Parts: sequence; C-alpha cells; structure tokens
Amino acid sequence: MNSCLFCEIAAGRIAARRLYEDEQVVAFADIDPKAPVHFLVIPRRHIASLADVQTEDGALLGHLLRVVAQLAHEQDFSDSGYRVVTNCHADGGQSVDHLHFHVLAGRALQWPPG
Ligand code: C5P
Repeated sequence: MNSCLFCEIAAGRIAARRLYEDEQVVAFADIDPKAPVHFLVIPRRHIASLADVQTEDGALLGHLLRVVAQLAHEQDFSDSGYRVVTNCHADGGQSVDHLHFHVLAGRALQWPPG
C-alpha cells in the first residue's frame, strides 16, 4: 500500500488537532472546515472508502458512529443537530482514499449539497 495521509495522522506521524482516539478510531479537526464544527472520524485500520467495507467491519463502523454521537453529545451540539457525511469515489467528492466520516455542525446546513 502506498503511503496514506490519514494512516499517517492516525499513527501520529503527521500532525492534526486530535479530538478523540481509542484503539480503533481517531477523530481530528478538518484542516479546511466547512462549518463552525467540522471534524473527521476515521478507522485506524486502512479502509479505502465505504465501497471497501466488508461484512466483518460492521462492528468497527458501528463503533465509529457511536463515537460520532458521543462527541456530539460531549461538545454540546447533539440537540441543535449535525450532519455526518462520507464521500465515496470521484463523483462523491472523495479526495483522501481512507474511509472518513465528516461531522459538521454549528450552523443550519443546507440540503441538498452541491
Ligand atoms: O471527503 P474528502 O475525501 O474530500 O475529505 C477529505 C477531507 O480531509 C477534506 O475536508 C480536507 O479538508 C481534509 N484534510 C484534513 N487534513 C489534511 C488533509 C485533508 O483535514 N492534512
């Protein structure tokens, strides 16, 4: 596998403003925020995109989404609301080929996205 930016962030070899980490997932602030709150939650293990998720990854994804909900609660934007997005492949707008969930909050988000 070629070097992966988010694998490097997960390993701590590239700096990011980390918000949460455990043995399975890492959350860090997006370097180019699109909302007052914008962070990414990634699995430590390299999975290229949602299209690459296998049946045996189900518990990992469930945990990852549970971490999103926990952070929303702890950061006090759970009640006002938020959006969770994963972009997949070219038409989905994916620019980093390591599965990541964007968490956006802090303003009324528009729908549909562009
Ligand atoms: O969904 P997509 O793959 O386009 O999202 C990648 C995200 O990773 C972007 O929002 C970008 O700002 C973010 N990023 C980051 N830190 C980096 C490089 C990219 O937070 N060093």
